[in-house]
Amino acid sequence: MNVVFLGPPGSGKGTMAERVSKRCGLAHISTGDMLRAEIKQGTELGKLAKSYIDQGALVPDGVIIDMMKERFQMDDAKGGVLLDGFPRTVAQAEALDAIIAIDACVNLACDAEVIVDRIISRRVCGKCGAVFSAKHYHADCCDKCGGELVVRPDDNETTVRERFRVYEEQTSPLIDYYEKKGVVQCVDATMPIEEEAELICSLLNQK
Ligand code: AMP
Repeated sequence: MNVVFLGPPGSGKGTMAERVSKRCGLAHISTGDMLRAEIKQGTELGKLAKSYIDQGALVPDGVIIDMMKERFQMDDAKGGVLLDGFPRTVAQAEALDAIIAIDACVNLACDAEVIVDRIISRRVCGKCGAVFSAKHYHADCCDKCGGELVVRPDDNETTVRERFRVYEEQTSPLIDYYEKKGVVQCVDATMPIEEEAELICSLLNQK
C-alpha cells in the first residue's frame, strides 16, 4: 500500500507519519528530513535546498522529483511507502503517478492559529531528529538519545506564516487532485496523538 500524508506545516504530519508507518509496516519517506540530512552533510543539494527552506519557500519541483526518483529505487520503498511532505505541488503529484500508484491520501486538517502556536513551541533533537513540544516537554535534552534540543531555523513566526501561505497556494490543491481519484480520508489533526494514529491505521486497514 502506498500512502500520501497531506497537511499544513504544523499539522503533526511527521510525528503521525512516523507512528503510522511503523504500525502499518510502511517505509516512512519524509522529503523535509531528506533535505535536512543533505544540509547537515553540506552537499550541493543541501546548499540549494537551504536557500529555499530558510525563506519558507518550496524547493523547485525538478530537484525534488529527481531526489524522489532515486529514493524510490531503494529496496525499502518496494514494500509500500508512507510519503510525508511529498508531493507538495500538482507537478510533483503527476510525477509521482508516473512512478507508483497511490492507494490512500490522508488529509490532516488543522486551522492556522493552532499551527502557528504548535510550530513556535516545536523543539527538535539536533542528534536524532525526535520532535518535542516545549509546552509539554520541559527538559533541554532528548529523552531518547540525550542530544541537545534546538529550534528548526524555519520555525520562526514569519517563516511559518509564509510556509502556511505557500501550503494554501501550492499544496492544498492536491486535496482536490486526490479527491478526484477517490482516495482521500480526512482526519482532525487536533485530536490526541494516540487516538489520531489509531484512527488513521484503522482507516488504512480498510483499504
Ligand atoms: P517539512 O519538514 O516537510 O516541513 O519540510 C521543510 C521544508 O523543506 C519545506 O518548507 C520546503 O522548503 C522543503 N520541502 C520539503 N518537502 C518538499 C517538497 N516535496 N517540495 C518542495 N519543497 C519541499
